[in-house]
Amino acid sequence: MLTAIVGINWGDEGKGRMVDLLSSDYDIICRYQGGNNAGHTVVNEKGKFILNLLPSGILRDTTVNVIGNGVVVDIEHLTNEIKMLTDRGIKITPENLKISDKAIICLPYHKMQDIMEEERLADKKFGSTRRGIGPVYSDKYMKKGVRMEDLFTPDKLHEHLSDLVEWKNITVTGYGHKPVDAEEIFAWLMKYGEVVKPYVTDVSKYLNDAVAGGKNIMFEAQLGALRDIDFGIYPYTSSSYTLAAFGPIGAGIPGAKLTNTIGIMKAYSTCVGEGPFTCEMFGDEAEALRKAGNEYGAATGRPRRVGPFDIPASRYGVRVQGADCIALTKLDVLSGMEKIPVCVAYDVDGTITTDFPTGERLNRAKPVVKYVDGFGDVSHCRKYEELPENAKKYVKMLEEAVGAHIKYISVGAGREEYIEVK
Ligand code: GDP
Ligand code: MG
Repeated sequence: MLTAIVGINWGDEGKGRMVDLLSSDYDIICRYQGGNNAGHTVVNEKGKFILNLLPSGILRDTTVNVIGNGVVVDIEHLTNEIKMLTDRGIKITPENLKISDKAIICLPYHKMQDIMEEERLADKKFGSTRRGIGPVYSDKYMKKGVRMEDLFTPDKLHEHLSDLVEWKNITVTGYGHKPVDAEEIFAWLMKYGEVVKPYVTDVSKYLNDAVAGGKNIMFEAQLGALRDIDFGIYPYTSSSYTLAAFGPIGAGIPGAKLTNTIGIMKAYSTCVGEGPFTCEMFGDEAEALRKAGNEYGAATGRPRRVGPFDIPASRYGVRVQGADCIALTKLDVLSGMEKIPVCVAYDVDGTITTDFPTGERLNRAKPVVKYVDGFGDVSHCRKYEELPENAKKYVKMLEEAVGAHIKYISVGAGREEYIEVK
């Protein structure tokens, strides 16, 4: 079984939480895109963890975790993340963590470039997490990247790095910054390279053998459909493919076919950073929802923008992900609301539509909001039958609107706080 578990919305849908729950059925969990700009929160019997680079399966003793070729890896950050977890008693060894030899390393100058660019843009900024992700992906496609496998040939790497740094300094000095020192970068690579090298391996071969051996593999996405580089709200997107279809490629088994895709969809909307967010709510109503959902970024601590469930955006998310079923998260957060707003359509230049537009049409879209009846507390529910009638109605409405079966309903952050819809 090859399963992708992906975000339907703008990210922070609770992917980490659902991977942690569902990973018990899988032998291998792969991260296939993005970098340490991810923030996946997992709460289980071992405590509360925020993971940036490591797959959420690292918290289970039985799963092997893979960082695939599609991921960009800040090895200093990874070193710290490994240390943070091992200090808390999580066992991390080359047996349960494998990093692709083809993964690109996110270098200190990528982070620097990210910060310089956001500062140059001032009030026009994209809302980058400033972790170098955009610049390192750009360099990857310019064929100016350093790969994990390069750590094993330090002499060659040293030579290559002086060319890279010379090229990078054209940009760096253009920003009015002092040039980058190749020796410093090399020393950084050697220092953190020593820590990560034991985990670096031919992941593609490992995964191909695993598929042949009938292993169950899960692909864990970072961010959501609407942040996909091509199909998201460009240019306010991430720099990689967040979609399920990219899972096998970014993990290392491009020829493999997905068995199924589970879309993680939130019972309301949140969005971190800049960009069009048609359903956005403001004022007291927004503040109350933000508080109830504790909507502050896991990676950055930034307050998240919030809004009601957005039918056009989520329907589109389900479509581009090709989701076979849905895990609806954070239904409990709506518990306190007497009337629940839902964005049922967009008004684009006077035309009412449930199709999700892009570009300028998206910028001009206005939400069409309708209110449905609230349903009181659902946090204690563990069976579908236990849900109040109005909660069932809400779930059914979303299901019909997005055109995919809601198989799981999460009503709390803890591992067992969910309902499986039979
Ligand atoms: P991810 O990036 O998609 O993994 O999601 P985040 O971890 O950034 O954000 C989801 C937040 O909601 C985390 O703090 C989770 O612990 C929390 N969470 C997940 N599912 C639920 C739920 O059903 N109810 C509540 N109240 N919190 C949840
Ligand atoms: Mg997150």
